[in-house]
Amino acid sequence: MDIIKYWEIKLKKLSDNITEKNSIPSINIKIKPINQGRANFRSNFISFPLWVLSKKREYIYYYLIHEITHFITWKKFKISNHKSIHKKIEQEICKEFRIVIKYAKAYPKALFNIKGKRICKKLGD
Ligand SMILES: [Zn+2]
Repeated sequence: MDIIKYWEIKLKKLSDNITEKNSIPSINIKIKPINQGRANFRSNFISFPLWVLSKKREYIYYYLIHEITHFITWKKFKISNHKSIHKKIEQEICKEFRIVIKYAKAYPKALFNIKGKRICKKLGD
């Protein structure tokens, strides 16, 4: 099995776990050579950037959680920005994956594991 297919299956499993817990429909994941991830509410899928797969596991998970959180805030509150409700839900889900976020506006300035060890400095690190 090629690496992209492998990750699409892995991310889909993680996604199904999160969407089920948050009582929203299952989301399809498509890995693409794009710069930024995108949450497509109408067609119900996430375009996931290929470059993210070269990062640490926690960062890959964080990136997926960020996009899924857009679906949760959209389905439940019709909110599609990065304001407090998005941050709150994103942080709650990250916690289950033992990831801690330190914010700089919308995107994290840094990610930490539960023991306080820095995973990465900024987006793209
Ligand atoms: Zn976003």
